[in-house]
Amino acid sequence: MAGEFRLLQGPVFAMVSESTRADCVNRDYPANARVDILMSRFWSSLVHTLTPYVAGEQPALRDLVKLNTNENPYGPSPRALAAIAAETTEVLRLYPDPAVRSLREAIAKSHGLDANNVFVGNGSDEVLAHVFQALLKHDKPLLFPDITYSFFPTFCRLYGIDFREIPLDDVMAIRISDYRQECGAIILPNPNAPTGTALPLSEIEKLIADHPDQVVVIDEAYVDFGAQSAIPLVAHYPNLLVTQTFSKSRGLAGLRVGFAVGQPQLIEALNRVKDSFNSYPLDRLAIAGAVAAWEDKEWFEDKRDRVIATRERLSLALRDLQFQVVPSSANFLFARHATLVGAEIAGELRSRAILIRHFPKPRIHDYLRISIGTDEECEKLLSGLADVITSLKR
Ligand SMILES: *Cc1c(COP(=O)(O)O)cnc(C)c1O
Repeated sequence: MAGEFRLLQGPVFAMVSESTRADCVNRDYPANARVDILMSRFWSSLVHTLTPYVAGEQPALRDLVKLNTNENPYGPSPRALAAIAAETTEVLRLYPDPAVRSLREAIAKSHGLDANNVFVGNGSDEVLAHVFQALLKHDKPLLFPDITYSFFPTFCRLYGIDFREIPLDDVMAIRISDYRQECGAIILPNPNAPTGTALPLSEIEKLIADHPDQVVVIDEAYVDFGAQSAIPLVAHYPNLLVTQTFSKSRGLAGLRVGFAVGQPQLIEALNRVKDSFNSYPLDRLAIAGAVAAWEDKEWFEDKRDRVIATRERLSLALRDLQFQVVPSSANFLFARHATLVGAEIAGELRSRAILIRHFPKPRIHDYLRISIGTDEECEKLLSGLADVITSLKR
C-alpha cells in the first residue's frame, strides 16, 4: 500500500491548509517531522481539496471518564435493546424497509404530522449531508455562524457550496438580525454547538419569516436538553427544515439514526438524493431500536431530566473553580478558565484519563467543551480539574 502514496513535503505541504495539517497529525499518520502528509496520484481532484471533519476520539481504554463527544451517560432505553435483540434473527437475511415507514410514522404521529413530513437517515450527519447536497447549494452563499458545528464547512467543501460565516456576538450568541442579507440558504444549530446557547422560538420564527425564498435548516441535535423545537412551525413555513438525532438525548449514538422534519417538497428532495446514494441507510436493527426508543417516553424524560440537573450542578461547580461558563441548553458546557490555557487543561486532564473536547480554533481556543456525564463522572472531572489547576498554577 505504502508504495501507492507520494509523500509531500516542503513547498507542496505548505499549500495544504492549516486544518488539513492538523487532521493529519490527529489521524496518526507517521510522526515524521519531514514527511507530513500522504497523498496519492490515484486520488480524484475533489479528494485533494477535502478537509475531513475530525470526530472526538474514541479510545479503546477502560476506566476513562469520557466527556468528549456528548454521548448520553445513561444509554438507550431497555425497550430499545429488547427490540434490537428481537430483530436479531434469521430475518436479517432480508433487506430492511427502504422507506422506513414504521419509524417515520412514529415520529410524525407525535408531532401531529404525516409520514411524508419525515426523512430518516444513518445518523443526522448523513441526513445533513443529503440536506447540503439537495437544498443548500445555490448561486448565493449559504450562511451559518462562525462558531458552530464544524461539519458544516466540511460538507460545503465536499459539495462545492459557497458559504459565509456570520460571527457570533460577544456573548457567544447568534444574532438573527445579522442574517438579514442576501444568501442562498441558512443553517444553524439550536442550541448552537459547541457553545450550547439557545435562541427562543420567536427568534427562529423571525429568521424563517425573514427569508421566505430561502431554505432555513435548524439542526436540533441538542434541543431536548432545554431549547424549544421549531417542529411546530413546519406546518406554517414551506422553507423550514428541522433535523434531530437519536444520538444524544436518546442514548443511541452507536445505532446511527437521525431525521429531518419539513413540508413534503423538502422531504422529497432528500428522498431523491438518498435513493441516488443508498436505498437502505437504516438497517433492521436500527429501525427496530429507534422505534422502541421513540416510544419509551418515560426513559427519555427521566434521563433527560437527570442530565439537565447534573449540568446545572456542574456549571456552578466550574464557576467555583474560576471558569466562565456559557449558559447551556445542551448536554455539554462550554467554559474557559479565568487564567489558564485551555489546551493545557485538556492535556493535563487527558493524562489523568479524563477526556473533554478542546478546539484549536481562533476565538474559542481557550474554551473547553465538557459533555455532561453521570454525577459520579462529573465528580471525577471536578477533582481532576482541581488537581490540574493547582499543578498548572505552580
Ligand atoms: C452530534 C451532532 C450531530 C449529529 O449526530 P449524529 O450522531 O450523526 O446523529 C449533528 N449536529 C450537531 C450539532 C451535533 O452535535
